[in-house]
Amino acid sequence: MKDFSGKARARDWRYFREQEIELDALPSGGHPLWAMLFPATYSVGMASLGFQVIIAEMRALGVGVERFFSGRFRGLSVESGRPISDFPLISASVAYEPDIRTVVSIFREWGVSSSWKERAELDQPIFGIGGALTYINPLIFSKMADYVVLGDGERVLDHLVTEARLFMQHGDRGRFLEGLAEHRSIYVPSLHDPMILKARKVHREKNIIGDLDRVRGKSQWIAPSSVFGKTALVELQRGCRRSCRYCTIPASFGRTRTRSARRILEDLYPLVSLEGVQVGLVSPETGDYPELSELLSGVASLGIPVSFASLRVDNINEEIVSALTRSGRHTLTVAPEAGNDRLRRECGKYFSNDDIIERLSMASSLGIRQVKLYFMTGIPGETASDVDDIASLCDRVRSEARLRVTASVGIFVPKPMTFWEREKMISERDASNRLKRLRRLFSNGPAKGCRINIQQPKEAALEFSIAWRGLSGRDGPILPAGRISGAPGPAPEQRSLLLEQLGILGYN
Ligand code: SF4
Repeated sequence: MKDFSGKARARDWRYFREQEIELDALPSGGHPLWAMLFPATYSVGMASLGFQVIIAEMRALGVGVERFFSGRFRGLSVESGRPISDFPLISASVAYEPDIRTVVSIFREWGVSSSWKERAELDQPIFGIGGALTYINPLIFSKMADYVVLGDGERVLDHLVTEARLFMQHGDRGRFLEGLAEHRSIYVPSLHDPMILKARKVHREKNIIGDLDRVRGKSQWIAPSSVFGKTALVELQRGCRRSCRYCTIPASFGRTRTRSARRILEDLYPLVSLEGVQVGLVSPETGDYPELSELLSGVASLGIPVSFASLRVDNINEEIVSALTRSGRHTLTVAPEAGNDRLRRECGKYFSNDDIIERLSMASSLGIRQVKLYFMTGIPGETASDVDDIASLCDRVRSEARLRVTASVGIFVPKPMTFWEREKMISERDASNRLKRLRRLFSNGPAKGCRINIQQPKEAALEFSIAWRGLSGRDGPILPAGRISGAPGPAPEQRSLLLEQLGILGYN
């Protein structure tokens, strides 16, 4: 492994560390030493509640866990400036498909192989993966990870840490992995892939925690240099009761589970004494949280400003808007997905353009000044002219609801574990033509005066490819990928094979 000690160590993370406010007093400096990588910069990684929670849980268990990020100082830990070469265990939290590429490039820089086989041959660190992507398709890590934690990581940690401590004593890699595989929510590619290839059931299952009041569910650090600034994050809910056809959450993240408003407010009391701190509510769909009224009035009585991510249009009401404007927020984010009612219904969203105008007009009258509207192109059943309706809807929002509009247009990517998992992906050429047309409509057409951001078709094609077959080449295609290497995207038979293999793993 590359040596990151010496000169580099002097330029360490002190500036970031000194800014951080640590919320719970937890042990530090335990054992074994464990590197926890977030495959993005510090500012993005520290905005991930899941990443913070797992680190806090590991520290509570007495593990010497230290944070690593991409970008500056990537070979050194945030906590102590230790070089990565000191760590016998590395884990990463992976939420999005392109993050896998970042893991590979960081490993390359560290001088660590991204193949579990090579790491075993070279006696390099054990590498485990957790995070949102493991709920959807853990097989994309089959050539890369020594093990993958399936689902909610908190309840798997006890077993993982016990086995890791034994490994530190006996040093036998194979024995360690066999010990990990005794937990049904840990997938060990070296042991399980031969079974999957022979179509023998592996009997894995995602860990799904029923009672979220028993999990930590809040930031360990307030990190002013993160993208959310001085925000403490609290978790409201996992899973979603809706069924938007492109979304991975309903089928992958287990039934809807919520934390009680009482428990969340208990987490927030200590923030009252902290100057300039706000709270960010984390949930797949904040408007569906059943105790939202109680929670918002509790937060208001504590005098803490509140923010939350995108809302479904049909959940926008006066109470929610007033909570935002009271907190000094004047921007709403909503995802109509399509510019007309027919295509939106196809997506599984049953609100109309008129509903959008009505709710946003109400929000505007209560002090909202700007709206970010998320759309997709390439939705099954979309025609070239449907994209014109995106521009027309943006124009209506600007002129009728009197809001500044920024449209973000992504490209629909069929993912495993969605209703549309077997749908076609739009070609790069068609996507590019539709996006060009949209740009024209925003610069000289009806949506002139609204802003637009678009996703590059190449990025979406890469996401599609990684979602189904991981990275190509030696860095780790998923099990079936080698058979159709060189294909421009995952072929239908490749997708069928992957879904079959996920079923064998225990993901149905
Ligand atoms: S898009 Fe949002 S509302 Fe729809 S299923 Fe996914 S999380 Fe739920």
